[in-house]
Amino acid sequence: MADLTRLTAAETAARIASGDVSAVEVAQAHLDRISEVDAKVHAFLHVDTDGALAAAKAVDDRRAKGDELGPLAGVPLALKDVFTTEGVPTTVGSKILEGWLPPYDATVTRRLKDAGVVILGKTNMDEFAMGSSTENSAYGPTGNPWDLTRIPGGSGGGSAAALAAFEAPLAIGTDTGGSIRQPAAVTGTVGVKPTYGGVSRYGLVAFSSSLDQGGPCARTVLDAALLHAAIAGHDPKDSTSIDAPVPDVVGAARSGDVRGMRIGVVKEFGGEGYQAGVTQRFTEAVELLRELGAEVVEISCPHFQYALPAYYLIAPSEASSNLARFDAMRYGLRVGDNGDRSAEEVMSLTREAGFGPEVKRRIMLGTYALSSGYYDAYYGQAQKVRTLISRDFDAAFAQVDVLVSPTTPTTAFPIGERADDPMAMYLADLCTIPSNLAGNAAMSLPCGLAPEDGLPVGLQIIAPTMADDRLYKVGAAVEAGYLARWGGPLLDQAPAL
Ligand code: GLN
Repeated sequence: MADLTRLTAAETAARIASGDVSAVEVAQAHLDRISEVDAKVHAFLHVDTDGALAAAKAVDDRRAKGDELGPLAGVPLALKDVFTTEGVPTTVGSKILEGWLPPYDATVTRRLKDAGVVILGKTNMDEFAMGSSTENSAYGPTGNPWDLTRIPGGSGGGSAAALAAFEAPLAIGTDTGGSIRQPAAVTGTVGVKPTYGGVSRYGLVAFSSSLDQGGPCARTVLDAALLHAAIAGHDPKDSTSIDAPVPDVVGAARSGDVRGMRIGVVKEFGGEGYQAGVTQRFTEAVELLRELGAEVVEISCPHFQYALPAYYLIAPSEASSNLARFDAMRYGLRVGDNGDRSAEEVMSLTREAGFGPEVKRRIMLGTYALSSGYYDAYYGQAQKVRTLISRDFDAAFAQVDVLVSPTTPTTAFPIGERADDPMAMYLADLCTIPSNLAGNAAMSLPCGLAPEDGLPVGLQIIAPTMADDRLYKVGAAVEAGYLARWGGPLLDQAPAL
């Protein structure tokens, strides 16, 4: 039998539905693959072998009874360790939640289970989703399957690496400043940040609540769309959840046609600081869009240059508030509780031991930015910049249907290269952050390998709020164009692990 781990999610679901393979066989093939390669890749923090096999068996039993199965029933998935899973460890990549077993499922987790998706385990991530390389995980870094000495992106490096290493055909990420798209770009996979409010945040451990957004990660555009449809939609448990029909992402992914569409190239995202091979592959992607029948124009978004500094005030400010709940009293770790110390002393010792350096840096930065006397100068100013960025998008989308840019300025950098240089690390999200600040939708998909290092380059497609379907329409057209050009998926060119 052909290797089940190489199939797409859509193919896997079809083969299970037809009875060609069982969901248990599919789950076992992926668990075997994880046993074979994950010691090298370290995509997973926790593999839930028993839970996965039980979920797969439940799908097989339903099929045997003649139940109609959903479009992803029996398909394995790797879940970022930022979503709660009832009775299954959820650490957020932090020591502060080590050993915590959540008493409830996140809405995303619940919807996956209801769809018959088989959750293989929880993936590695930068602590509290703060980072662009997965090096900030308290449990050690993840390797990029293209070159294990390089970063798989972050914070969702584990989810992206699981896809690229064929440990799972589907994964879930969260994107606060780029943590779905940047890992997708550097691993040659597809990642989508849905419109803010499109996917419930209930049970998503909060980093920066006005920016955090869960979304689908996959190896193909159609698979991402199927997963998007499974997790999206209104949730009364999340007050920022959008109460409107989910855009028809699956239909758009199946149609994949850009003829007559107007596509804007963001002028500010290019030039100095961009790796030559990234610029080259991006330019070729724009050329491909023209060949496919799109009209391409250059668009200026003058305030995007302030997105990064505004983000690094807003995100840490919200984090400093959100992370106050890790007080040693309610969840996870408790240090120094010897009966003599006050609650405040135990809190302080626990937070000192439980949080890593990047998390502490952000808490301090955010507390400072929100403090009286500085609030208007920093936090207030950043919120004004946020509004200007939204207006840039409004002006752009009055002229074009979608915007495009490179997803990241460079390909995957070596593990360790930026670990001690937060500013260099922050630059990885230069092109992704504006969409988080404005709340609109964006995708990254592969557009080739950079000639100088042979590593994947990501094309970013950006759509207006609640026009997520446009991402899939354009993404599917680009993907089909490249499949013809490359004679197969980009990941077929990755070295064997
Ligand atoms: N790299 C960015 C940060 O460190 C974005 C992280 C994210 O999207 N979760 O904040």
